This record gives sequence, structure tokens and C-alpha cells, in this order.
Amino acid sequence: MVLRVEDLDPRARDRTTADLLMDDLDWLGLDWDEGPYRQSERGHAYEAAVDLLRGAGLTYPCFCTRSELHAATAPHASDGTYVYQGTCRDLTPEQVKRLSAVRPAATRVVVPAEGDPVGDITFDDLVYGEVRECLARDCGDFLVRRSDGVFAYQLAVVVDDAAMGVTQVVRGRDLLGSTCRQVWLQRVLGLATPEYAHVPLLVAPDGRRLSKRERDLDLGALRSSGMTARHLIGRLAASVGLAEQGEEVDADELVERFSWAALRSRVHEGDETSADVVVSPGFLD
Ligand SMILES: [Zn+2]
Repeated sequence: MVLRVEDLDPRARDRTTADLLMDDLDWLGLDWDEGPYRQSERGHAYEAAVDLLRGAGLTYPCFCTRSELHAATAPHASDGTYVYQGTCRDLTPEQVKRLSAVRPAATRVVVPAEGDPVGDITFDDLVYGEVRECLARDCGDFLVRRSDGVFAYQLAVVVDDAAMGVTQVVRGRDLLGSTCRQVWLQRVLGLATPEYAHVPLLVAPDGRRLSKRERDLDLGALRSSGMTARHLIGRLAASVGLAEQGEEVDADELVERFSWAALRSRVHEGDETSADVVVSPGFLD
């Protein structure tokens, strides 16, 4: 277990937040063997990866503003982001020079053209099964660095997973849609692809994602209300069939009964394979 603080965005670079998260993990009984590593301190590694891509002729500067990107009638990818239409791909050196004087450029990578099998990415998710994406059609040339200099999540996690020897990535289903981009980056950069397991999100009965902003299930609020970790973990485990309803368990005890098969069957219940876990009012009572 590697603990990595993903604080690429300067707005998220707050020691107190990271310390509170670590304190919450500790309270839950989740520990780690290595880290914490902080992405805010690893810019040199991301820079080197972008240099490699640039050296391979796979990057170009993009001057599109946010409003220009949204104004383009682009189809939307599965994760709600737009499919970049390649507006800046063929700018001449003169155009790049002129635009550079006006605003800073972001950096995009050129994905293989539609029909090129190299850009047709497939991987086998441990929970959701086979996931497939055609990069050209489903996302287009994507950002590896924003115009304000912040490296893109896609690039940073690929570099970090390889550098930290990560062999298995377990994360929320909301990131399932960006995994094909990461698999492609791994191939281009000559890095190994780890195993992926995306897990269902907890959602409200209306399908709305529970968010910290709304304090639906804010861990700080739960802790100060006197809830115990055994109670909370028991409810979460029961929601994916790893514990009996009402059972209280430790994270340690769950290690022995954990299986991907149990989680997989929970996700594939019925015929809805992108199922999340619906949390009804009173879920934690
Ligand atoms: Zn552009």
C-alpha cells in the first residue's frame, strides 16, 4: 500500500487537508507501507515525461480557452469531458509564435487517428470487466499539462504508478473512463500497465453522487457525531455483500473475507453493469 497525496492543483495543496485525510485513514484502521508521496514535489518527473512525449513528436501547444472549448459543438466523452477536435494540432510556427505572445499554451498529446489499432485500447477491469475506448473518437488529443503549468492527472498518475512500483490500482468508478488514456500513455512511455479495479460509488436514491460539499457523509461530521470505525466499515462492507446487515467489523477482519468476485457480483446484479451502490436515508443508522 502506497499513500500518495494527489495535490497537483495548487488549490488542493494544503498540508492541513492531507494531514486530516491521513488522520481519517488512521481512524478507519487503514495503514500504508510507503509514503506519503506528494505530487506537488514530483514536478521534475512529470516534466521529464512531457519532454519524452515532445521528443517523440507527440505533443503540441494548445491555446484554446475554456469558453472556446465549450463553444465548439463537440460530442461529450463518457466521463463528461469534451472530445477535443484538434483545433490547435496543425498551427504553423508563425501562428504559435503570435498566440504565445497573447496567452500561455497548454500541452496536448496526439492520439492515434481513428482506425489505427494502436489507439483502440482495451483492458480488463477486475470489477467492471472489459473496458474499451477508441481514443480518437472518445476523447481526442488530451491535455498533459494545463496552460497554468499544472500537470494533468492522467500523466502524473501514470508516471507515479510506474515510479512507485504500483501493480494494482483500486479507485472509484468515476475514473473508469480515463483509464484507457492512461494505458495508452504507459505504452507510449514504455511503462508497465498495472491491474485495475474500479469500485462502485455511493449514490443517493436519485442517482446523485454523494459529495463532501453537501456534507452527506462527511467523515469529520460522522466522527464528531460519535460513530465508530467498526460501525461505518460494517455498513460499507454490507453494502457490497462483504458483511451481514448490521454487523460491525474492523478493516483487518475484512482482509480475510475480501474477494473481487463478491464485489463483481454486487456490481453485475441484474443487468445494469455500471451499478453504483445506492445509499438510502438511514444507511448509517
Ligand atoms: Zn487548442
